[in-house]
Amino acid sequence: MKLAVVAGGAGFLGSHLCDLLIKEGHKVVCIDNLMTGHKKNIEHLLDHEHFTFLNHDIINPINLDNYVIHHIYNLACPASPVHYQDNPVRTIKANTLGVVNMLGLARKHKARILQASTSEVYGDPLEHPQTEEYRGNVSITGPRACYDEGKRVAETLFCDYKRMHNLEIRIMRIFNTYGPRMAEHDGRVVSNFIVQALKNEPITIYGDGSQTRSFCYVSDLIDGMYKLMNHDSFEGPVNIGNPDEFTIKELADLVVQKTGSKSLVTYNGLPQDDPKKRKPNISLAKEKLEWEPKVKLAEGLDSTIEYFKTICC
Ligand code: UDP
Repeated sequence: MKLAVVAGGAGFLGSHLCDLLIKEGHKVVCIDNLMTGHKKNIEHLLDHEHFTFLNHDIINPINLDNYVIHHIYNLACPASPVHYQDNPVRTIKANTLGVVNMLGLARKHKARILQASTSEVYGDPLEHPQTEEYRGNVSITGPRACYDEGKRVAETLFCDYKRMHNLEIRIMRIFNTYGPRMAEHDGRVVSNFIVQALKNEPITIYGDGSQTRSFCYVSDLIDGMYKLMNHDSFEGPVNIGNPDEFTIKELADLVVQKTGSKSLVTYNGLPQDDPKKRKPNISLAKEKLEWEPKVKLAEGLDSTIEYFKTICC
């Protein structure tokens, strides 16, 4: 039986990963400081004999000497622009000090370690769709830099630990993902629009709504993450996301239509450095992992809407 540490395991993605790992017969040690993660996301696992929760911030070192660790998934970082900009220095610490601590843990246990990186490493991309070779167009000094540059240096640290210490690494670049267990006040577009629509409140489009994103359903994303971790040799970086691209206005219309909402759309200012478009090229994931997303936006939105009906409206 393999033991996996999931840092950020009480978050939206982390908790779904914990579910999959338990289902696949792993032991799981879930670490979370509960800043943006929530205990309710893992409540159903707390009594499971193979599941342990530790309230810990990865900015501080952790030894876990009484465990034999095989795999470490590092998802510990606030991921919504609203949250990662709330305390940008902390965001940078999670991606530097925190990542060094997780890499040190992997080194000590001779464990394989996966970094949840992001499409944000491409910044406001000048190449479309984005391939893994693209080096990005990232502001060094803007409000998103704490996350974008943080995630970039985290990838660098992973590669340097591999070069210096022969560590087994995996790097996945996650594109916009949605689904049940997104937090109601997460601030991201899918959760904001669904909650606003269900409450018949104005749908807040930032800018003119012509910017695009490509939305991946959570089960597809977690499936890709698990495949990457368990691949014998392929380490990435690899894009994991859904290449079906939508404008934000199209998303707003779809959510209003699906919820039967009376909400009207309002147009607000566009946040600084908001990427104009984003769409993954997933050829590498298809080739190396035999992975591609299965859930269409229309289908994934249905179950996400059902989830939000149970928690907020
Ligand atoms: N957005 C919006 N209204 C909202 C929240 C977000 O129009 O209530 C826009 C945001 O400006 C961006 C896109 O939706 O262009 C995706 O934003 P999100 O915060 O979900 O993630 P990002 O891809 O920017 O990290």
